[in-house]
Amino acid sequence: MNQELPSFVNAESVFLGISFFSLGAIIGSFLNVVIYRVPRRESIVFPNSFCPECKTPIKPYDNIPILSWIILKGKCRHCKGKISLRYPFVEFLTATIFFLTFKHIGLNAFLPFALAFVSAMIALIFIDAEHMILPDVITYPLFVLALVSRLAFALFFGKEFFSDLNYFPATAIEGFPSWIVTLISAIFGALVGSGFLLITAKLWEYLRKVEAMGMGDVKMMLGVGAFLGWRLTFLTIFFGAFTGSLAGVAISLIRGERNLQTQIPFGVFLGAGAIVSLLLGEQIINAYLQAFSP
Ligand SMILES: [Zn+2]
Repeated sequence: MNQELPSFVNAESVFLGISFFSLGAIIGSFLNVVIYRVPRRESIVFPNSFCPECKTPIKPYDNIPILSWIILKGKCRHCKGKISLRYPFVEFLTATIFFLTFKHIGLNAFLPFALAFVSAMIALIFIDAEHMILPDVITYPLFVLALVSRLAFALFFGKEFFSDLNYFPATAIEGFPSWIVTLISAIFGALVGSGFLLITAKLWEYLRKVEAMGMGDVKMMLGVGAFLGWRLTFLTIFFGAFTGSLAGVAISLIRGERNLQTQIPFGVFLGAGAIVSLLLGEQIINAYLQAFSP
């Protein structure tokens, strides 16, 4: 009978895991609306979801995340028009990332902020992939979210959620009120993230006389830098540059271009890097430092 307790604890964590997976699928369904409408400058609230082909409103029972697409075999019930695989994919991806974020952060007050952050990353990734833009209506609120979460947590929960607070510049201004320390660290992270991209872009423009990247990436990294802090931001940029240039070379080879001028949506790789950094960043940095320390 003593074995009842562990199985109860397991049941609870399984229940929470399923709950956050389901929440992610629902938010993913909303992100599909954001991804479709924000670049087209349409309202994300009105009207309700409609078929992109025949514009018929989608009934609630045909709007169940992931499942409806499978049941309808990827076709509109009304016009039989093809519904992109992107819809169930974004729902499943968001569900999986919500589950992993819950596993990593745990059930605490920081979790909603982290879920909002990964949601913004997913929206930016898919909008940039399709339209090569990172809309201000997402990147600016992202920066505000980052500053608010930093300030709120300094005041109410201490500094445990932000690893960069154990390093410069936070250590240099120890003794100041915690909200000043955390705000300066957030702004330092934002400057590291956006400044690094801005300098690289200007240098590239100067050397190659071509436009390297849009300001959307720079604005996106304001929010990412402030939220993640400078250490995880460096990891995000490294991950983004590494995977982004691999993809760029691959696309150039496939298209048979030799001058490597192919425009790649860099926000896709920065967004993926930011999610990886949030979930695995500390382990990656520690493993790296351990491998290369004398
Ligand atoms: Zn239709």
